[in-house]
Amino acid sequence: MCVKRGKTFIICGPSGVGKGTVVARLLASDPTLYFSVSATTRAPRPGEENGVHYHFLSMEQFERWIEEDQFLEHAQFVGNRYGTPQMYVDKAMEQGRDVLLDIEIQGADQVKMKRPDTVRIYVAPPSWAELERRLIGRGTEDMEKVKSRLARGKEEFAAAKDFDYFVINDTVDRAVDEIRAIMTAEHCRPDERIALIDQ
Ligand code: ADP
Ligand code: 5GP
Repeated sequence: MCVKRGKTFIICGPSGVGKGTVVARLLASDPTLYFSVSATTRAPRPGEENGVHYHFLSMEQFERWIEEDQFLEHAQFVGNRYGTPQMYVDKAMEQGRDVLLDIEIQGADQVKMKRPDTVRIYVAPPSWAELERRLIGRGTEDMEKVKSRLARGKEEFAAAKDFDYFVINDTVDRAVDEIRAIMTAEHCRPDERIALIDQ
C-alpha cells in the first residue's frame, strides 16, 4: 500500500472574516495538520510571534527571498508584501500531512496555476456589515486601514464563485465543521483512493 501524500488547502477570504480564528481551531483539533507560516513585511501585532504567526521580514530580506526563489507564491496586500515559503509546504506534504495556507486571492491563483490539485476554500462573512464589525472589533488596524481592507475584500468577492468551495463563517463551529467535511471529502477522490489499494 502506498503512503498517502498530503493535500494543500487554501483558506481565502476578506480581512476580518475569521480565517485566522477558523485555522487556529482546525490546528487545535488535528495535530497532523501543517500551517504554512508566511513571510510578511508588515509589523507584528501585539501577541504575534516571529516564526509562529509570520516570519517578519524587512523589505530587503523579502526581496532576497524572492531572488533566492524561496516562495511558492507572493503578493502585495494593502501596502505590505506576503509570501509562502515553499520548502516547508513540500516537506509536510511528503510526510503525508495536509497543509493549510491562509493567503489572499492573487497568491491563491498562483498556487492553483502551479499546483492544480490544490483545493481553494473561500470564507465569506454573513454580511458586509458584520465583516466591518469584526474588523473594527479586532482593533488591530486604524480606520483608514480598516477601510482599505474592506474595499479590497469587496473587490475580490467577484472571484469567489471560481473557488472550489464557499463557506460562510456565521458561527465558527459551523465554518470549522464545513471545512473539515471538505477536507475529508477531498481525500475520498478516486485518484487518491485507488492508489491506496493493493492490486
Ligand atoms: P482574519 O484572519 O480573516 O483576518 P480573524 O480570525 O482575525 O480574521 O477574525 C477577525 C475578528 O472576528 C476577530 O476578533 C475574531 O475573534 C472575530 N470572529 C471570527 N469569527 C467569528 C464569528 N464566526 N463570529 C463572530 N466573530 C468572529
Ligand atoms: P494580515 O495582515 O491580516 O495578517 O493578512 C492580510 C492578508 O494577507 C490576508 O488576506 C491573508 O490571508 C494574506 N496573507 C497572509 N499570508 C500570505 C501569503 O503568504 N501570501 C499571500 N498571497 N497572502 C497572504
